[in-house]
Parts: sequence; structure tokens; C-alpha cells
Amino acid sequence: MAEQSVKVVILGESGVGKSSLALRFVTDEFRPYSEATIGASFMSKSMTITPTNDEKEQKSTERNISFKIWDTAGQEKYRSLAPMYYRGSSAAILVYDIANPSTFAALQDWVTELNNNGPPGLVLAICGNKSDLEDDRMVGRSVGQEYAERINALFIETSAKDGSNVEDLFSQLARIIPPP
Ligand code: GDP
Ligand code: MG
Repeated sequence: MAEQSVKVVILGESGVGKSSLALRFVTDEFRPYSEATIGASFMSKSMTITPTNDEKEQKSTERNISFKIWDTAGQEKYRSLAPMYYRGSSAAILVYDIANPSTFAALQDWVTELNNNGPPGLVLAICGNKSDLEDDRMVGRSVGQEYAERINALFIETSAKDGSNVEDLFSQLARIIPPP
């Protein structure tokens, strides 16, 4: 079966868990003291998407997707590099920390930048990470959800730490990325 290569860029403030999400998805590990990303880093992982019952009725078949994941550095000094990574991307994952409202506010700048300069048809996912920190939650689930709806993006809350929804984030993306 042919494999479809899908470039994905992960964007968001420093410390929200971008590198941890990529690591969890690709290797199923979590490192509590991970180092800050310099510039950007690259990982890849393949995934098989089996059609849902609805899709079966539309005669869709199984698809193999090879994610090429660009994990960027959130620091201001690297911002000017972002276009190198979102150029040619099929999807962008915009990550915030549910316990840190300023990281959620910062996503809106990314959305504006991607709308103005990103590739046409770029699929967006808003990802509220650190869902294991429920007791410290500062950004309500519905706030994230409503924002995502407004900008026509996927919405999901994940935890790179306990692994919840990380696989789902990528499989949901895969399902809405059009076949080649
Ligand atoms: P990045 O700067 O966005 O790449 O963030 P990192 O992946 O380097 O993570 C920043 C810090 O948050 C690290 O100490 C991680 O261990 C921690 N972290 C990342 N994801 C989670 C999560 O889902 N839950 C919790 N509790 N901590 C996390
Ligand atoms: Mg990082």
C-alpha cells in the first residue's frame, strides 16, 4: 500500500510540551526534564488509518500515513525561522498549556500568521496539553473548544505525560488531511 507523506509542524510557546508530545507520539516515552529545543527538531512516524463505518460506505480504503513532524522552538529569537517549517506543511498543531493562560492567548498570533502566510488548505489543530494538571487548570475546555470551532480547527486536550489523547491527536489529523 502506498504511503502518504504528511508534513506537520508543531507551534506554540516555550514549555507547553511540544517536544514532549512529539516524543510521546513517536517513541511513547516521557522525559520530565527534557531540554529546550534549539531551532527545530525532526521526527517521523507512520500510522495506518482504517476507515470508520461511515467511510466504508463511501468505499474509502485503509491509508498509510507517514508523519514528518517538525518540532519548533517557542522562543522569540527563533520565531523568524517558523516559516521554514510551516511552508509545505499539510497540518499545524498549535499547542498551549491548560494551566497557563498566556500560552493560550499566544496561539492567536500563530493563527493570524498562518492565515496570512501559511500554505493554503493548511489543517489546524488546537491542542490543550498537560491535561493531567486538572487541579491547576486555568483555561476551560469549552474556551479552547469554542476558539477552535471559530477558526475551523480540530480541538483536543492531551497529556504528553500520561499519554492521553496523543495518538488520537494524530489520527484525527490524518483523517481530515485529504488523500494525495
Ligand atoms: P516545549 O518547550 O514546548 O517543547 O516543551 P517541553 O516538551 O520541553 O516540556 C516543557 C516542560 O513541561 C517539561 O518539563 C515537560 O516535562 C513538561 N511537560 C510536557 N508535557 C507535559 C504534560 O502533558 N504534563 C505535564 N504535567 N508536564 C508536561
Ligand atoms: Mg521543545
